[in-house]
Amino acid sequence: MIYIGCHLSVTDGYEAMGKTMVEFGGNTFAFFTRNPRGGKTKEITREDASALNELLKKEQFGPLVAHGSYTMNLCSAKPETRDNGFDMLKQDLQRMEMIPGNYYNFHPGAHTGQGVETGIRQIAEALNRVMTPEMHTTVLLETMAGKGSEIGGTFEELAEIIRLVACKDKIGVCFDTCHTWDAGYDLVNDFDRVLKRFDEVIGLERLMAVHFNDSKNPCGSHKDRHEKLGEGYLGPETMKKIAQHTALAGKPFILETPNDDEGYRKEIGIVKDWFR
Ligand code: FE
Ligand code: FE
Ligand code: ZN
Repeated sequence: MIYIGCHLSVTDGYEAMGKTMVEFGGNTFAFFTRNPRGGKTKEITREDASALNELLKKEQFGPLVAHGSYTMNLCSAKPETRDNGFDMLKQDLQRMEMIPGNYYNFHPGAHTGQGVETGIRQIAEALNRVMTPEMHTTVLLETMAGKGSEIGGTFEELAEIIRLVACKDKIGVCFDTCHTWDAGYDLVNDFDRVLKRFDEVIGLERLMAVHFNDSKNPCGSHKDRHEKLGEGYLGPETMKKIAQHTALAGKPFILETPNDDEGYRKEIGIVKDWFR
């Protein structure tokens, strides 16, 4: 058994995404909490949220992995960008309370010249201002490709953010296979070693979700261009090995591959076949 799904558009509301995923054959999904490029929010109604909650229970979905906006940068050198990012984070986490028990993943941020240390501190400070022991969402930091001044291209950077976060039981990591590969971790030749490294630096118990993407670029390219499942540098064997790895059993796997609906249906089918 695996929790597999893909990224969906929130345009038609929350319950609609659940229905779409049932129809795709999956049992988890991801969605942007707001327009990924701009910042505008789709308002969620209580009725829509509870309809989705019902569906998730009935269809035995795994945790959903909501995705924060790309424009949210908690460690920008510009104070107004940081403030804006903080407002998004706060609103997103408030909204997530309507669908309790799920994950909220975001890109840690880009320090834009301030330096990694300052960036890490600002990210952790922002999280500490909004996260509470009472909240019903686990916040996930995404492993990044290490493009430009992006933070999170190494496990050490993520570990340092986590070390500074007060609500330790509400913080984890989303392992993006394309990003981690692009960052220089060799998932093809030694996935076990990458996981061992993750365990030593962060702790495997923090690995709570997977962004299941192939990559258009070689290991260490720092590019972040996703490829269809098995059609990139990771290839079908590695993707299958990752999906079947016992250390990742029971985690939601989210496809963020360049696909239309038909392509996602197909990839969900491929992954499910690995578990028959
Ligand atoms: Fe992402
Ligand atoms: Fe991702
Ligand atoms: Zn990416």
